[in-house]
Amino acid sequence: MRFDIITVLPSLLDSPFAHSILQRAQKKGLSEIHVHNLRDYATNKHKSVDDYPYGGGSGMVMQIEPFAACIEKLKSEHEYDEIIYMTPDGITLNQSIANDLSTKGNIIILCGHYKGIDQRIRDVFVTREISIGDYVLSGGELPAAILVDAIVRLIPGVLSDETSALSDSFQDGLLDAPIYTRPAEWRGHKVPDILLSGNEAKINAWRDEQQLQRTQERRPDLLHDE
Ligand code: SAH
Repeated sequence: MRFDIITVLPSLLDSPFAHSILQRAQKKGLSEIHVHNLRDYATNKHKSVDDYPYGGGSGMVMQIEPFAACIEKLKSEHEYDEIIYMTPDGITLNQSIANDLSTKGNIIILCGHYKGIDQRIRDVFVTREISIGDYVLSGGELPAAILVDAIVRLIPGVLSDETSALSDSFQDGLLDAPIYTRPAEWRGHKVPDILLSGNEAKINAWRDEQQLQRTQERRPDLLHDE
């Protein structure tokens, strides 16, 4: 799966993809992540990519031409399934969106800054608008990194234990059960006996029950979502 991320701050994305599972996915050839500097597509001599808003008001607006030039160059080289704009007024990211996007081939992600991007970029090029939550950040890079992480770990072969993504929170509409590792007792706090019993059927039943209980307590909305 190929990601092309368009940003004015490419160095912000150096680190998130260079570690752990995301790095391994690229080494294994299961995902490719290309970061493009929007300023390389600026048409004026100052290499600026933003301008004052029509109609006045505060903040700068990212201009259409640099995005158009970069997107059109990419589209002349590859086919894209989605062009996604990270934006607080998009659809809030959740596991089912990540699952869906993990089945795609190539995706372009646009990162905004300042007040955001010229509406016409959204009208003409963008196929999906995704928010990472009801709060406003200063740029789309961290949201883009979050989106890519959520997607890449679902690509078959990326996680070493293939079943582990399936048992995570939200995959079955429930939160995950509590987890423990050694020591079995720490300062008087014991691991639940059932987990030491070796009885797989009972352990699974306990985990199911814990998942349901946790979801009822913390996220009852998930149980009524269907
Ligand atoms: N004026 C915009 C906010 C711009 S914030 C508004 O009120 O909706 C600047 C950029 O940060 C946005 O263009 C977007 O790319 C990114 N961004 C900020 N918050 C985000 C969020 N919750 N989800 C996704 N992207 C976000």
